[in-house]
Amino acid sequence: METEIFKGKNWTAKKVDTIYVVSVKDRSGIIDALTDFVNEQKIQSGEITGIGAVSEATLRFFVPSTKNYVDKTFHEQMEVSNISGNVSVLNDKPLLHLHITLGRQDYTALAGHLLDAKIRGAGEFIFYPLATKMVKVRDEEVGINFYDFEK
Ligand code: FE
Repeated sequence: METEIFKGKNWTAKKVDTIYVVSVKDRSGIIDALTDFVNEQKIQSGEITGIGAVSEATLRFFVPSTKNYVDKTFHEQMEVSNISGNVSVLNDKPLLHLHITLGRQDYTALAGHLLDAKIRGAGEFIFYPLATKMVKVRDEEVGINFYDFEK
């Protein structure tokens, strides 16, 4: 077993063999921190899971018929009961695709595509990188980024 510790501007990580445990600092933006992390570690594909707590979150809903995205920001303290997602490469830049389930104070849940959220409390993530690059390409007809496994 091989371990190594890394520090970024608003995250710290411990790498155990090929897997990273990542802690995102209180009051940091999740997307900002995780984008910095994948850039610093040159992660170009893999799986992400996470839990924690946030003080605000912006979710996005895709409407296929119009190719429109409807975004909504929730300003309240919420538990992150799950973040699941992946890393790929779009236009030579790392792309995080994350979905989130949020628990409100009344124990009901919100869920959706995660645009951004601010950690308030803990932000605990596990990254499972793949040893290759997964490329996505924008499909203008559908309005979605799809994997292109030939690239
Ligand atoms: Fe999505």
